[in-house]
Amino acid sequence: MNNFLCPKCLAHIRVGTHLIFKVRNQKKKTGILLMHPQIGNYASEKHPSFEIEEGEALDFFCPACNTSLESGIHKNLVHVILQEESGQDHDVYFSRISGEQSTFETSGDALRAVGADAGRYTYFKLGDKFKRFL
Ligand SMILES: [Zn+2]
Repeated sequence: MNNFLCPKCLAHIRVGTHLIFKVRNQKKKTGILLMHPQIGNYASEKHPSFEIEEGEALDFFCPACNTSLESGIHKNLVHVILQEESGQDHDVYFSRISGEQSTFETSGDALRAVGADAGRYTYFKLGDKFKRFL
C-alpha cells in the first residue's frame, strides 16, 4: 500500500482507502474532501452540504497541521508526498481546480504526467523547479 504524507509535518494523510484533506472553497467555507489514493483516479467524496462548483479553485490544507499544501511550482498545483511500500518517496502534484484532471509524479529526474488535463501545465506555465523534468 502506498502512503501519502504531508510535506510539512509528514503526517499520514492516507487513512484507509482515502486521502483526507481540509479544503476551502471560493466562498471561504471549509470542509473535508476525501480523494482516491490511486494516481489518476479523480473520484472524491464530500458531505453534500459543502459546495464545490465545477472549475472552482480550492485551497488545500493538511488535516493534521493545517499548513497550506500549495506547491512552490505552480499556484494551481497541490503538493503531497507519496511513499511507496519500499520506502521510496515521490513528490506528487495535482490540480486544485475542481474537475481538472492533472497529476504529476516526480522521482529523481523522472516526471510522470497523468490525467486528461495535464497538458494545461506546459513547460511555459511551470516554474523553473519543474522545467528540469520536461
Ligand atoms: Zn501537515
